[in-house]
Amino acid sequence: MAKIIDGKMTSTAVREKIKRDVSKFTEETGKTPGLAVVIVGENPASQVYVRNKHKACGEVGIYSEVHELPESINEDELLALIDKLNSDKKINGILVQLPLPKHLDEEKVLLRIDPNKDVDAFHPVNVGKIMIGNFSFLPCTPAGVMELLKHYEINTSGRHCVIIGRSNIVGKPQAMLMLKENATVTICHSKTENLADITKQADILVAAVGRANFVKADMVKEGATVIDVGINRNAEGKLCGDVDFNEVEPIASYITPVPGGVGPMTITMLLKNTLTAAKEQYK
Ligand code: NAP
Repeated sequence: MAKIIDGKMTSTAVREKIKRDVSKFTEETGKTPGLAVVIVGENPASQVYVRNKHKACGEVGIYSEVHELPESINEDELLALIDKLNSDKKINGILVQLPLPKHLDEEKVLLRIDPNKDVDAFHPVNVGKIMIGNFSFLPCTPAGVMELLKHYEINTSGRHCVIIGRSNIVGKPQAMLMLKENATVTICHSKTENLADITKQADILVAAVGRANFVKADMVKEGATVIDVGINRNAEGKLCGDVDFNEVEPIASYITPVPGGVGPMTITMLLKNTLTAAKEQYK
C-alpha cells in the first residue's frame, strides 16, 4: 500500500511560510508584492482558476488584481494592457490565463510580458534560463511536483525519473527540474514505442498526459513513486487523474491523489514566484 502524498497539507505548510516571508518583505521594504491576472472570455474552468489565484494571494498578503476582458477584445488592446502592467510599479507579476480565444496569438501575447514579471515562466527568456539551470521563476506545476518530493524527502538524485508528456507547461520543464536535481530522466510521448517497458523502469513516474486513468498497474514498477499531474473528468464526470489510482496505489510506495495531490501546489508556487519577482524588482 502506498503512502499518499498530500498536496493540500503540503500546500498549506508552504503557504504559511510564504505568508511569513511576504510579511517580512513588506516590513523591510514598505512594499506589497503585486500580481495581475488577465483573463479573456468566459471559459468556466479558467474563471475558477483565476478566482482561486486571487483568493490565494489575499490569504498570504499579496496584492492582486484581475483584468477580465471580453472574448471580443482584439490583440492590440490586449497587448496594450500588458504594456501598461509591464510598467505598473505596484505589479510585480503578470499572468495571462490560458487558453486564449483562437483569434489571439498566444505566443505573441506571452512574449510581450516583461520576463522579470513572467511568474508563469512561459517567456522564452525564462524557458532558456530553466534549460541552463539558472532559474529566476520556476514553472508552477513542475515546481509544485519538486516541492512535494522535497516535502516527503523523496530523493531524485541518481534515480530514474520517467515523465509521460512533453508539453512546454509540464513535461519539458519537469524534465529540466529533475535533471537539475541529478535524476536520470526519460521523457515519453504519444510516439514513444513500448511505453510500458519504459515506465516500468521508473523509480519516479510522472504522468502528464491528459487522459483519464491512462497509467495502469502493469506500467508501474513495484515500489515506485507515482506523481499524477493529470486533471480529467471520467465517464461519470468525476475529477480524476492520468493514473488509475485504484490499480496503481497497491504497488507504488508513494502516490499523489487527484484531486488533492499536485493541483493545490500549482497556485502555491505562483505565490512563491510573485514574491520572488517583488524581491528582485525592489532589490
Ligand atoms: P498536453 O499539452 O496535452 O500534453 C500531453 C502530453 O501527453 C503530450 O506530450 C502527448 O504527446 C502526451 N501523450 C498523449 N497521449 C499519449 C499516449 N497515448 N502515450 C504517451 N504520451 C501521450 O497536456 P499538458 O498541458 O502537459 O497537461 C497534461 C495534464 O496535466 C492534463 O490533464 C492537464 O489538465 C494537467 N495539468 C494539471 C496542472 C495542475 O495544476 N495539476 C497544470 C497543468 C496541466 P505528444 O507531444 O506526442 O502529443
